[in-house]
Amino acid sequence: MGRSPRRFSLKAVSSESHLVYGLFVYGLTFLSHPLKWRLGHRERFQSRTELKSCRDLGLSMQFHLNGFRPGDPLIPDTRVRNQGCHSSQSLPAQVDILIVGCGPAGLTLAAQLAAFPGINTRIVDQKSGPLLVGQADGIACRTMEMFEAYGFSQRVLEEAYWVNETSFWTPDPNRRENIVRSARIQDTEDGLSEFPHVTLSQARVHDFYLDVMRNSRAALEPDYSRRFLDLTIEGALSEERTLPLRTYPVSARFERLEDAHKGQVETVQTGFLVGCDGAHSTVRRCLGRVMQGDSANQLWGVMDVLAITDFPDIRLKAVIHSSVEGNLLIIPREGGYLVRLYVELEKLKDSERVSSRMITPDRLIASAQRILRPYKLEVKEVAWWSVYEIGQRLCDKFDDVANSETARRFPRVLIVGDACHTHSPKAGQGMNVSMADAFNLGWKLGSVILGRCSPRVLHTYSDERRAVAQELINFDRKFARMFSAPPRKAGDADNQGIDPAEFQSYFVEQGRFTAGTATHYAPSIISAEPTYQHLAKALVIGMRFHSAPVIRLADAKPLHLAHTMKADGRWRLVIFAAAEDPAAPSSRLQALCAFLGDLRHSPIRKFTPGGADIDSVIDVLAVFQQSHRELAIEAMPAFLLPQKGAYGLRDYEKIFCPDLKSGADIFDLRGIDRTQGCMVIVRPDQYIANVLPLSGHRELSAFFAAFMMQPSP
Ligand SMILES: Cc1cc2nc3c(=O)[nH]c(=O)nc-3n(C[C@H](O)[C@H](O)[C@H](O)COP(=O)(O)OP(=O)(O)OC[C@H]3O[C@@H](n4cnc5c(N)ncnc54)[C@H](O)[C@@H]3O)c2cc1C
Repeated sequence: MGRSPRRFSLKAVSSESHLVYGLFVYGLTFLSHPLKWRLGHRERFQSRTELKSCRDLGLSMQFHLNGFRPGDPLIPDTRVRNQGCHSSQSLPAQVDILIVGCGPAGLTLAAQLAAFPGINTRIVDQKSGPLLVGQADGIACRTMEMFEAYGFSQRVLEEAYWVNETSFWTPDPNRRENIVRSARIQDTEDGLSEFPHVTLSQARVHDFYLDVMRNSRAALEPDYSRRFLDLTIEGALSEERTLPLRTYPVSARFERLEDAHKGQVETVQTGFLVGCDGAHSTVRRCLGRVMQGDSANQLWGVMDVLAITDFPDIRLKAVIHSSVEGNLLIIPREGGYLVRLYVELEKLKDSERVSSRMITPDRLIASAQRILRPYKLEVKEVAWWSVYEIGQRLCDKFDDVANSETARRFPRVLIVGDACHTHSPKAGQGMNVSMADAFNLGWKLGSVILGRCSPRVLHTYSDERRAVAQELINFDRKFARMFSAPPRKAGDADNQGIDPAEFQSYFVEQGRFTAGTATHYAPSIISAEPTYQHLAKALVIGMRFHSAPVIRLADAKPLHLAHTMKADGRWRLVIFAAAEDPAAPSSRLQALCAFLGDLRHSPIRKFTPGGADIDSVIDVLAVFQQSHRELAIEAMPAFLLPQKGAYGLRDYEKIFCPDLKSGADIFDLRGIDRTQGCMVIVRPDQYIANVLPLSGHRELSAFFAAFMMQPSP
């Protein structure tokens, strides 16, 4: 990979005086756009709360005007922004979970585990400190939903570039050496998510996770300058009666890399080791697992630049096919000035290394200039560049248990993210899928270690996420092939190239996939068969809980229902009430609450440890059909206003009504049967595990009993 190009010019300016809020500039831009464009913004944020809290209509941050500065743009002094890190303490001899790699996968996992009280987690990286520049930058809508669960979506929304529209450029039919705009389309379909698709430096995403970890009760900080060497596994996790899982059969060795301790080797024993160590994963190699897939690697030159250009769509995501000069992807970035250019280069021959190609930033700039003709591009600064060599590859399994042994053994070592699958950057999926892997795994590991869930749930990690990675690779292959094919001339049916219209329609069709909202897990112990799916047609079992606006009954606060579902390891049971008087003693709601709250075999009673708050393992929420002014809170079952904490204070934040002012009723939006109502069980990673009738008390108990463990008295 290339580094430090000639034009890299991080100027020694001590304060970022050019950091401005572009209210005025943004306001002018906003007013000058057609009405449809403005409505697009409004529709995306149907809830009034979000319009306010995202400040999406009046405020955008501008920075990097006088040169690229890594780190938090809200901290003017660049010396304070990136204060390095301290990793001089030794690693402990024993930990519950050891994570190798501080990329997006490792940090998502560590932040999730930091939410579990009493679990001792360590995260280690060979780098000397946090990432400052470069790597991935596309953040899909579903990832933004996940960031909301982690508590930093608002920060990302404020700082990031919003990919609202994409333009397509093809050769000018009259002068094929030039390009012309062929289409401009909305990036994601309306109603797909309450969040937009955004771009932001991967380094900033890391920063937000590091804040979550730092601010958790565990006050988790990475241990840098440690290279993972190898591991051994003593014995196997074979019987559920070995619980609680405070045993440490995995032994890992690390080499210290800082000058003061160079060469020292540390050994750590752990219950579980998770390899989030990227495409060249040593953990994967230790497991003897191999990546399979394309050997012909595609080369991509990627640059984050500050440039002057007359290309009109420089602040739009732009997909450009030139007639003979190749293809270019323009990704506008945070701050109003920075732009990422992906320049497609040739394929590498078998066993050829990228270093042999002598690629320089000047060469990449010259390629981009040729592709953009007749427009000019003058690059003033290259903030980061790389040659990104990528094939679509997939590992046969994401843990240490052979398929033939799953009935007898449970995983102790798992791999996540690029360590088990890699993709081309064209669809911008690598970072998103890696974080989604980690969100899928984090709660499972935490629950198993605490003895809440059977270790059998750990098998579902590889099953679920490998299927997603395989699907993504199939999509990516086709997308990459179409992207790289030369554009076909109009009327030239014999030409081997791609019809630009065909490429555009594939791009639109696959929008849900690239937004990350199409993931659909197959039935398993934690994802039921769709027996009662008809009761909530658009809350699909196996897919993520698609949020909708609601009003909280107690304080009339408008919010998105899924935003109450944080990445805290808890399950959610959402009761959608039937169209009946909920206060009537004979109502299905009253019967359900009596069962959940009072009966011994209620999963809430059975799986909540003695002395813990009643919602600490399964959080019950209720959504009613009446408007919030029609519903009397005093008539609600006490179970929905539980007493918690040291003082036994009531929790008033469990009951919701449709947000009728926003124009969309959650019952209609999500296809809930109004006559019967239903229960929707949501996993800690926000995926829907089951839909049941309100009277399905027995089915509810059976569902949780299949994988949850009763706490010891
Ligand atoms: C140089 C580079 C450029 C990229 N550019 C793009 C891009 O332009 N667009 C795009 O979409 N995606 C890009 N990617 C891919 C994207 O960044 C990944 O898909 C994403 O980061 C995957 O996250 P991860 O956490 O699985 O792995 P990574 O982000 O690769 O993180 C792995 C971490 O493990 C650490 N590690 C590795 N081995 C060891 C060891 N033995 N001991 C200790 N620590 C170790 C590494 O230092 C690293 O911090 C790029 C990746 C790289 C490496």
